[in-house]
This record gives sequence, structure tokens and C-alpha cells, in this order.
Amino acid sequence: MSARILCLYSGGLDSLLAARLLKDAGAEVQAVHFITHFTGSMEKLSGERYMEEWGINLRRIRITFEEFRPLLEKPPHGFGRALNPCIDCKILFLRKAREIADQEGFDAVATGEVLGERPMSQNRRSLDVIERESGLEARLLRPLSAKLLPQTGVEKSGMIDREKLLDIQGRGRKPQLELAERWGITEFATPAGGCLLTEPQYANKLRDLLNHLKEATDETVALLKTGRHFRYPEGPKLIVGRDKEENEKLLQHGGEGRIFLEVRGVGSPIGLLFAHNPSEEILTWAAKIVARYSDARGEPQVTVTRWDIKRAEQTLFAPPAKDSELEVWRL
Ligand code: SF4
Repeated sequence: MSARILCLYSGGLDSLLAARLLKDAGAEVQAVHFITHFTGSMEKLSGERYMEEWGINLRRIRITFEEFRPLLEKPPHGFGRALNPCIDCKILFLRKAREIADQEGFDAVATGEVLGERPMSQNRRSLDVIERESGLEARLLRPLSAKLLPQTGVEKSGMIDREKLLDIQGRGRKPQLELAERWGITEFATPAGGCLLTEPQYANKLRDLLNHLKEATDETVALLKTGRHFRYPEGPKLIVGRDKEENEKLLQHGGEGRIFLEVRGVGSPIGLLFAHNPSEEILTWAAKIVARYSDARGEPQVTVTRWDIKRAEQTLFAPPAKDSELEVWRL
């Protein structure tokens, strides 16, 4: 009887190789791609076509900000070099995979993890912690490093021939690239999959949002990818569009406590201010920043229009912000 294995697929080469290796070992393989605000994609991934060619069914599961939030506030296993709680993130993904495996009768869950490839989350201790805390003891298979790790249930029972699995370890990518060549894999995402939590600038913006808890929702976290972000000292936040597409996107996020600003008659970004009944000082602050990024930035005083869902348009007058001021307010 062939083993039924649910394989996590990040879009990177390692998870692609793990799925292929298991397929070649005779397993029935299905794959799951987890999507958070920080990694993963609803769009077709570059390596996905190989999954299709190999007859591996791929499903996508979205993880909400609320589900992920505890990992950002107090991850039991700490952060990596930025705001990436890699060990706890993997545990979260694997717990979800375990639920699917239990419901749908998979014999094991597999990942493309390689022993020693990442210092924080793929050392031997971390691999053990991840296996234990995801509730997948002896059911978590890492085919690329399996021969260096304790046998899983499917190996012990003979459902998967351990000899067909590998003993790759370390940070060098040579064995993986050789396998890719052998199997004709030329397209795949870069290692770490472009996770935004590993990018210091994005991490700063997210940290700021987490410090203003009432503001942090799926919507506002998604908006971290759009525009320039500024924070009035101990006060509200302003997002300024960088191009037409971002301006149009910001305009879709009106509502209670949201104020739009724009310089009319010249090229101007849209500003989106998150504030309920802001003072004149805060409105002028936001107007200064919007004026700075408009084509009227050379004028001593700029006319900025503000509007929101409750009140008619209002005109503000503000000098464009200086670069030195922007540096203080920019997130
Ligand atoms: S890099 Fe990002 S997606 Fe990958 S384990 Fe770390 S936090 Fe999770």
C-alpha cells in the first residue's frame, strides 16, 4: 500500500524536490501552500507547473492576521534577524497541515527542510521542537535529510523506502541544484521565499502597527505593502500613494476615521489619514506631507483638499514638509 503524504509547498526549490522525491518513492503526494500577509501567493507560483506535470494536487490555505498575530507579539521561540518568528511560524503551518492530515487520512506530513540549512529554524534541535510542538511526532518527514534524522512511522512500516530518501545537510545548495537539473526544474522561487518579515524596513512598519493595536487588522496589515507610511509622534498614521495604482488602491479604503487628502490641479499623491476628529495641527501635518510629494512641492504654501465619508470637502493650507521632517515621521 502506498503512503499518502501531504507535502508543504513554499514555492522554493527544496519543497519542490521533497514532493518529487516522495512521488518517486511511490507515495501518493498532495501539496499545500500556506499564505499569510507576509509570504505565499494566491497567484500561480513559478514552480507550480512541475507539480501539475507530476500529478500532484496543490491546495492553498490562507492564514489571517488574527491567527498570526500572537507569533508577532510574543513568539515562544523568538525572532530571526528581523520580525520573522520562523520556528513558531513553521509550527503553525504544520499544525494546520496535521489537522488536514487527520481529517483526510494522510499517513505523514512532509517538508523540504534541510538539516543545517538555516541557522535558526533548521538546526537539529529546532527540527525536533517543530516536530514535537506541531503534534506530528514520527509523522513529519523531511525527505531531503531523512537519512540523518530518526525514522518516521511511514519509513518504519516500509510504506516509504528510506533508501530512496536523502542525506543532504548544510547551507550549500549543490545537491539540490543537481537534483533540479536531473528533474528538469529550471523555475522556482529564491530560498526564504521573499518573506516580508525578514525585511528590516517592512518589519519596522509592522512593529509600529503592532504598537497601535487597535489599528492592526487584516486590512491595515495588507496596506503595509502600499505607499509611504508616516506616523505623527504618538498620534495617527498617514499613508501616501507612490503612483497612480497605489492612489487608486488607497481610495478604496475610505470609511469611518479615514480622511483623504490631495493637491488638486497638479500631479498629487492621495494621502490616507487614519484619524477620528483630528486636530488642525494633525491635519496640517498630513497636508504638509501630501504637499511635499505633489508637483507643487516648490511652492511656499500649497492648497490641499481633504474629504471623508462624513463631511464635505475642506481646504487646508500648508507648506511642503522638509526632508529632515519626513525622516522623523517616516516608518
Ligand atoms: S521566513 Fe517567514 S514564512 Fe518562512 S518560516 Fe520564517 S516567518 Fe515563516
